[in-house]
Amino acid sequence: MLSKVIDQTKIDRFTRWLEHAEKIVIVGHVAPDGDAIGSSLGFYHFLETLDKTVNVIVPNGFPDFLKWLPGSRDILLYDRYKEFADKLIAEADIICCLDFNALNRIDSMADSIQAAKGKKLLIDHHLQPEEFCDIIMSYSHISSTSELVFRLICRMGYFSDITREGAECIYTGMMTDTGGFTYNSNNPEIYFIISELLSKGIDKDDIYRKVYNTYSESRLRLMGFVLSQMKVYPDCHAALISLTKKEQGQFDYIRGDSEGFVNIPLSIKGVILSCFLREDTERPIVKISLRSVGAFPCNQLAAEFFNGGGHLNASGGEFYGTIEEARVMFAKALEKYKPLLNAKG
Ligand code: 5GP
Ligand code: MN
Repeated sequence: MLSKVIDQTKIDRFTRWLEHAEKIVIVGHVAPDGDAIGSSLGFYHFLETLDKTVNVIVPNGFPDFLKWLPGSRDILLYDRYKEFADKLIAEADIICCLDFNALNRIDSMADSIQAAKGKKLLIDHHLQPEEFCDIIMSYSHISSTSELVFRLICRMGYFSDITREGAECIYTGMMTDTGGFTYNSNNPEIYFIISELLSKGIDKDDIYRKVYNTYSESRLRLMGFVLSQMKVYPDCHAALISLTKKEQGQFDYIRGDSEGFVNIPLSIKGVILSCFLREDTERPIVKISLRSVGAFPCNQLAAEFFNGGGHLNASGGEFYGTIEEARVMFAKALEKYKPLLNAKG
């Protein structure tokens, strides 16, 4: 049995909404990751079994390693089909916002979501959600939005309606947001849920291979290059890797190629904070990813130095300057956080 995470009153209210709703739009965040896509498609498959008209819309493209997910071809990219997407959003009876806590996480979609008349539901696990939805199901101690989607469907009494396709999407989101169940993954209920998903016929080993072992040769060479340039700060138990636009060109970089790079320096003994800086190809910014182990709050560092936020152990942000300046900023952040990085325990 699973413990009750989502408030019953919120579930009851959403259930009542559903009775009168026909058109539903599901929205995920910019640069959608495995959990954004997995939770959105998991919820999409469920709502389809209720005979609703459902559309998943995300601000921009997602990595190739998620394209095998059942239903992924039906996902609408806002940056390509803005007009059509705006129409769907405006006409939706319900808008489900999944895996983000603030409107700025959906970029240019924010205006039409804010203006939409439909009822809005948030399902998310990021800290401090903004109040842009009527029902807020936000539980930051849960390791993925996909897990919350599973919990919601079950609490509504529809476990038996979860299809294998839906289960594959939910599992993928749970797996990717915990690094293949290597962090944020000590809650025993996660493994109860996995066994329930297995009972739907998913092949978890095959899903692992499809997500993690289908990269290009150039991606592996890029990884080797990035690691060869890594800077380690032994005094601060930290490491920094980076990727310029020029280097991306040299290695035929495509979206998703650097997914997971930021975790690699954490495999060095003693390193508890890893930072990855990447020059964005579309905007003149540097994208920051931070990962930590233990109690070090990389979301605090991201908020203070890189206009970002996120989870305790996985956060990100943006820097408005050159990659060189971002490196200097990271060194500055390390100076400030040195005592905490050296704290025992
Ligand atoms: P990633 O490093 O995988 O891009 O992001 C890890 C986590 O950091 C995300 O799940 C999200 O919570 C947070 N994050 C990433 N980028 C940003 C950002 O620009 N702003 C904020 N507030 N959070 C971010
Ligand atoms: Mn997530």
